[in-house]
Amino acid sequence: MGIFDGFIKNIAEDRQNREIVEMYHDMQERDPDYRAKAFDNTDSNHGWYTCPRCGRKFRADDMDADHIVPQSRGGSDSRYNLQLLCKHCNRSKGNDMDDTWDDLKRRERELRQQDRDDVKYLNELSRKNR
Ligand SMILES: [Zn+2]
Repeated sequence: MGIFDGFIKNIAEDRQNREIVEMYHDMQERDPDYRAKAFDNTDSNHGWYTCPRCGRKFRADDMDADHIVPQSRGGSDSRYNLQLLCKHCNRSKGNDMDDTWDDLKRRERELRQQDRDDVKYLNELSRKNR
């Protein structure tokens, strides 16, 4: 290990932790209807949803709304903390947090893309109605 390796690793960890803290502040949100929110904020292909864990496609009835940071560990009902998993993957996930970081980053990317698509759609609508 070189002299700077530890230093560089610390900077990377610091940035990652700052992002986690920022995300965490966005997550202080409760919503009793979080299942509907998870569906509203997930793209489907004519009613088929892709499970991000196993990559298989399911109908809505076979998908669970999962809290990426488990509720038992303080995870909230923010759309950033909700993802749809198939029942099998959701059961096998349980309370473990091995994939939490990857899931949060993936979810953030998905929602940013959805927001961009929504803005594009609204722009097109307003152009047509001019
Ligand atoms: Zn799955």
